Amino acid sequence: MGDFIVYLIPTDLTWQPSRDAAERTAAEARRLAGIPEHVYPSIEVEFFARITVAHPFENLERIGCPRCGGVIAVEWFDGLTDLNSPNPDGFDDLTVAVPCCGELVSLADLDYDWPAGFSRFRLTLWNPERELTDDDLVTLSAGLGHELRLIHAHP
Ligand SMILES: [Zn+2]
Repeated sequence: MGDFIVYLIPTDLTWQPSRDAAERTAAEARRLAGIPEHVYPSIEVEFFARITVAHPFENLERIGCPRCGGVIAVEWFDGLTDLNSPNPDGFDDLTVAVPCCGELVSLADLDYDWPAGFSRFRLTLWNPERELTDDDLVTLSAGLGHELRLIHAHP
């Protein structure tokens, strides 16, 4: 069985918390998700200079275009976001011409199934014992000072 990852990212693409708030929220997320202290890797706190993808990896089955309703190949998305892409250290601007209809669309606005996300701050929970609930998310968002969303990844 492979690893299972839950990313927690702010709903705002560029927002970053204070280091203190980030560490407090990470500790609370660890408690709520039932991740033991001694396990490694277990939880990561990351600040990014540029807007960085939270990729669902194996969970990403389909990408849809919000303009024409067309299907966009996952390979096209990976070609823009992976380590061999022109954007290995993230983005300043997510606007791209999509391959289906050529419209300029933000990568953040494509229809990802399962959801992908973009942020300049991220908490990564490795193999959480317990699924975070909506109430947990409200608690963690309040502690951090910004609304958070979940991205589920299966690398
Ligand atoms: Zn399109």
